[in-house]
Amino acid sequence: MINNLQEAENCMLCKKARCQKNCPINTPIPQVIQLYKNGEIEKAGEILFNNNPLSVICAIVCPHEKQCRGNCIRGIKKEPVHFHSIEQEISTEYLKNTKFIKPESNGIKVAVIGSGPAGLTVAFELAKKGYDVTIFEKNEKIGGVLTYGIPDFRLSRELIDLLVSRLLDFGVKIKINSIVGPVITLNKLFKDGYKSIFIGTGVWNPKRLDIKGETFGHSHYAIDYLKSPKYYSLGKKVVVIGAGNVAMDAARTAKRNGAEEVYVAYRRDFEDMTATKHEISEAIEEGVLFKTFEAPVEIVDDGIILARTEKKEVDGKSTVGMIPDSEYLFECDSILIAVSQAPKNTIVVNNKGVDTTKRGHIETDEKGHTTKEGVFACGDVVLGASTVIQAVNSAKIVSESMDEYLQEITEEEVI
Ligand code: FAD
Repeated sequence: MINNLQEAENCMLCKKARCQKNCPINTPIPQVIQLYKNGEIEKAGEILFNNNPLSVICAIVCPHEKQCRGNCIRGIKKEPVHFHSIEQEISTEYLKNTKFIKPESNGIKVAVIGSGPAGLTVAFELAKKGYDVTIFEKNEKIGGVLTYGIPDFRLSRELIDLLVSRLLDFGVKIKINSIVGPVITLNKLFKDGYKSIFIGTGVWNPKRLDIKGETFGHSHYAIDYLKSPKYYSLGKKVVVIGAGNVAMDAARTAKRNGAEEVYVAYRRDFEDMTATKHEISEAIEEGVLFKTFEAPVEIVDDGIILARTEKKEVDGKSTVGMIPDSEYLFECDSILIAVSQAPKNTIVVNNKGVDTTKRGHIETDEKGHTTKEGVFACGDVVLGASTVIQAVNSAKIVSESMDEYLQEITEEEVI
């Protein structure tokens, strides 16, 4: 159990704070810690919220070991300051205790498609400025990956409910079970008077392994599984393919839902895994087993055929290749595939004018303008599978440019 007051005492309040510099959203960490030490929790909460409306979430899910904690100067010789724990306390208190007041409306309608971290940030930022924001979310609950991906043992759904209440305080309208693309199109939204549209629809198509047997009944994509794990019967022995955070979440969830033996099979070594060290060690602690230097070859009725791999140099570059004749059958009841995601293209297929890259991501400039006038985008649907903080950070920039655009077009209308 972390003692936050002690953590705050441990902070050296560096003038050129490396923790702040390495925070993708530049959280003013020393200032917040000083306010916390002074007991000025509300002021600290306001600073955190104004800098990052999803501070309460980032305090839990950010890869802190690569950001604030990993760059704490105290960590060179001693235990680094666990700022994220202080941030979590402050931001939870702030969202619970502060009644947000609906800003005066400027009467300009904006549509936000998708309620993941990117859409939520744009909604907060524009609602604060007085825009009349409506969120369109295809699912019955808001939050995107925060609700339908990251398991609740890592991220409490109460925090997402808190964010929903604060959005409603700001006057944001939330349309759940509303997919934009096939029936509600972008042009229909413009015709109805929305002056600008934000697309933050994320990446929900699992990437294929492209091996035989992938469609069998005992083989599932991890992001599909994580949406509703309790409805799956995975059996006793499960193999997860992949080694990112999605793979760790799927493995831990399978274990918590009754699988006795869960293996993560990965073609490289621990240090190459994209999951954070923290997530890997939590998985190990919960009894997940790892099969490194093993690659999937085929899914069969009795399990999965794996091959051993080895590191080698090709043209001066380090790569990994399968060892010839090393294939063997690894018997198991189910396989969960977690090798990244790509966007579903419901919106762009049904709406001419929004161009995508070769990989299916929405094409934008650095300020989030898409190729269709008045339409902006960011988050995973632009970057590819990334992180919550990257989605929030880009959404802050994009909401600024939407504001600029809206001010310009409304001035033109007046003239
Ligand atoms: P999303 O969160 O994907 O939200 C998109 C929303 O748009 C969804 O609600 C979707 O239903 C909605 N939508 C899609 N199409 C339509 C449509 N046509 N009409 C209306 N609504 C639509 N990142 C971290 O920083 N830390 C972690 O620990 C972490 N763990 C992860 C674990 C898992 C299992 C996964 C899958 C990802 C994880 N990530 C993590 C990545 C992170 O969650 C994403 O980068 C982030 O959620 C991207 O935000 P987004 O708003 O762009 O998209």
